[in-house]
Amino acid sequence: AKKAGRNTFFFYDDGMGSEASERTLLELDLREAVLRSGFLLHYQPIVDAASRTVSAFEALMRWTHPLRGAIPPAEFIPLAEETGLIVALGTWALHEACREAASWPGDLRVAVNVSAVQFTQPGLEQVVRDALSASGLPADRLELEITESVLMSDAESVVASLHRLRDLGVRIALDDFGTGYSSLSYLRRFPFDKIKIDRSFIRDIGNEETAAIVRAIVGLGERTGATITAEGVETEEQFESVCREGCTQVQGYLFSKPLPASRVTGFVEELGRR
Ligand code: C2E
Ligand code: CA
Ligand code: CA
Ligand code: CA
Repeated sequence: AKKAGRNTFFFYDDGMGSEASERTLLELDLREAVLRSGFLLHYQPIVDAASRTVSAFEALMRWTHPLRGAIPPAEFIPLAEETGLIVALGTWALHEACREAASWPGDLRVAVNVSAVQFTQPGLEQVVRDALSASGLPADRLELEITESVLMSDAESVVASLHRLRDLGVRIALDDFGTGYSSLSYLRRFPFDKIKIDRSFIRDIGNEETAAIVRAIVGLGERTGATITAEGVETEEQFESVCREGCTQVQGYLFSKPLPASRVTGFVEELGRR
């Protein structure tokens, strides 16, 4: 059983025992939170490497459990996917991100993570269209981040759906690139606007073989017309390395952790003054 909250709430105590019952309780709380819209989005800047200015923010979901405190997405997103709750949650995230981004200065874009499960639902394009029209956000200021698991199952219909989303003017990014089993083959199935190189490569970029892999991904991206983003850049050293290997956008704690919506505008102004 998880340690968090053990002393604060008896339902999560050892007495209940198993991981399974704890999961069931968390699922009930998740369901409840979906009904009450008990979630928030935080926004992490995506920085243009050459100019060191922000070009976009990635929306990342936050859930504060009434008793257990902050639950990381790595814990509740998989649960939401298994239970199908991700469909409602993802719809909320798209609407909320577009609504908040519509008030941002300039032509800042917002990137929203879309789960593979959302692609198994027929209504995704309509949800995106609704989120854009309700918020007034121009389609070219929305990016959808998908992982290659989206392309694994029923590639034909997913690729068709990606093309229709792209036809709306929305950009499509391939997230966590390099972590799957056959990443390269997915680049042939759909011409992504953006490839995000997974943090694990950036962490080890001091290693010559890893740097060579990053360089190769950049080369591939350039040939397919995709912009390359390095994820999880934490140090100046890593920043210099990813720039040297040709990444044109960076994201990571070096620039900022994900921020509450109220701090987006202030961050952009502050970075502009640096
Ligand atoms: P992701 O899409 O790969 O998002 C990047 C994750 O890396 C975020 O974790 C972010 O806070 C973290 N990160 C960013 N820069 C750094 C860094 O320099 N160092 C380190 N160590 N970490 C960094 P977070 O917010 O905990 O989200 C984890 C994952 O949960 C996301 O990975 C994404 O797969 C999923 N997720 C989050 N929000 C949503 C959402 O709204 N919808 C869906 N479907 N998935 C989401
Ligand atoms: Ca992402
Ligand atoms: Ca990622
Ligand atoms: Ca990830």
